[in-house]
Amino acid sequence: MTTSSTSFVSRNPADPSDVLGEFPAAGAPAVAAAVERARAAQPGWAASGAAARSSALTAVAAAVEAAAGELAALAVREVGKPIAEARAEVARTAAIWRYYAQAPYEPTGTVHEAAAGSGLLLTRRRPHGVAGLITPWNFPLAIPSWKAAPALAMGNTVVLKPAPEATACARRLAEILTDALPDGVFTLAPGGADEGGALVATADVVSFTGSTIVGDAVVRAATARGVPVQAEMGGLNAAIVLPDADIEQAAAHIAAAIAGYAGQKCTATSRVIAVGAARDPLREALAEALRTLAVGDPADPATVCGPLISEQARDRFERARDGLYAVASGPSFAGPGWYTAPTLVEKVPEGHRLLSEEVFGPIAVLSSARDTAEAVRMANSVAQGLVTSVHTADLDVALHALDRLDTGMIRVNAPSTGVDFHLPFGGAKASGHGPREQGRAALEFYTSSRTYTLAP
Ligand code: NAP
Repeated sequence: MTTSSTSFVSRNPADPSDVLGEFPAAGAPAVAAAVERARAAQPGWAASGAAARSSALTAVAAAVEAAAGELAALAVREVGKPIAEARAEVARTAAIWRYYAQAPYEPTGTVHEAAAGSGLLLTRRRPHGVAGLITPWNFPLAIPSWKAAPALAMGNTVVLKPAPEATACARRLAEILTDALPDGVFTLAPGGADEGGALVATADVVSFTGSTIVGDAVVRAATARGVPVQAEMGGLNAAIVLPDADIEQAAAHIAAAIAGYAGQKCTATSRVIAVGAARDPLREALAEALRTLAVGDPADPATVCGPLISEQARDRFERARDGLYAVASGPSFAGPGWYTAPTLVEKVPEGHRLLSEEVFGPIAVLSSARDTAEAVRMANSVAQGLVTSVHTADLDVALHALDRLDTGMIRVNAPSTGVDFHLPFGGAKASGHGPREQGRAALEFYTSSRTYTLAP
């Protein structure tokens, strides 16, 4: 992707000569104007009634389903997502809109008897106004949707600033939304950090997903204005494997979590901690799983690991891997795109950036722990706290780990990368700030509670 202050070019990471388009950036003043228009439209949208909001969200779901093939192909082409995962993301996107289409009918509060006398006390959740949403490129349809759908369901209007690398996907999704919604209820504000900054400076509630460094700045700016803010940020996720685990299955899950979509998921596994006797068989099984993993063209249904998003991302990845001892490397694929081979490394020197920073590529560090307690300590030793996977046949061990792991999500005998859209999603420590996304948690985030007293 090439960016100037006024426009940016979106390219196919699997074939950079394939240009999706040169897109104008909205500019900070246009973002502020979009927020004003959205603010003017918000009371009408909130007052339109549950049925109107529900049927608009249902219409979005139906339009996503009708355009499923086209949307998946666009995600393959613009962000290099393997087609099987792109199809799954589109299906999840439609499911998210259907799920939140029920939300307008749900109760928004409670009724209480007065402590004295015959009055009534009520609580009621009300929308904030304009939701400013800032999204990354790696889930170009699902992440904007899991923010916009609950925000709209609860009566907010929305301005979305997508990542420049995913502008074509965002534009197609925005077409669907603007067709289904009244004027001004949803606005796309394409651009970069200037547009994102303008949105944080003007929206009534801010939801951000992206890197920790940008997320921290967004949280500071929104907090200074006193508006509610949530930020979902990067991970450095561990997989803990116990000797009693089904090692073949654990290796398959972990390899997919290291290398699926070239490791470009916040939930990717980047640290593998083998407990005691699990080490040798796991090392062997994981090396084999990575060596035989399908790396290649994301349009090929067999592909698990496609290209990295850009030349800069690939250079950053190669620099991080440089000089490390590789236990195993997946197959290479010549390109023309920004491909790299999935890699498992060990004996990484203390202080190496792979042990503290998210590299956002298909690489993981293998290390050993004497026992589960040490493995949990190692897993918890980083600043990030998004997700951990635990692989064991022992329910007691799994329950013990659930209580002690300091991550927002823990997955037992499953890859770290799965997401259930109807459950709260988010990280602890440096991986997350504020209330969770998804599920019912999102409905609360996009509203604030009021207390009413009705005296007789
Ligand atoms: P990013 O560089 O942090 O960008 C995220 C968004 O923030 C983009 O739209 C970006 O626009 C915008 N932005 C940049 N500077 C800004 C500023 N000063 N004010 C407001 N907005 C600003 O992240 P990315 O490279 O797109 O995505 C990859 C990252 O997202 C990884 O760290 C990954 O772990 C994380 N992620 C987290 C989750 C989760 O739920 N925890 C899910 C998916 C991804 P520009 O690109 O133009 O700068």
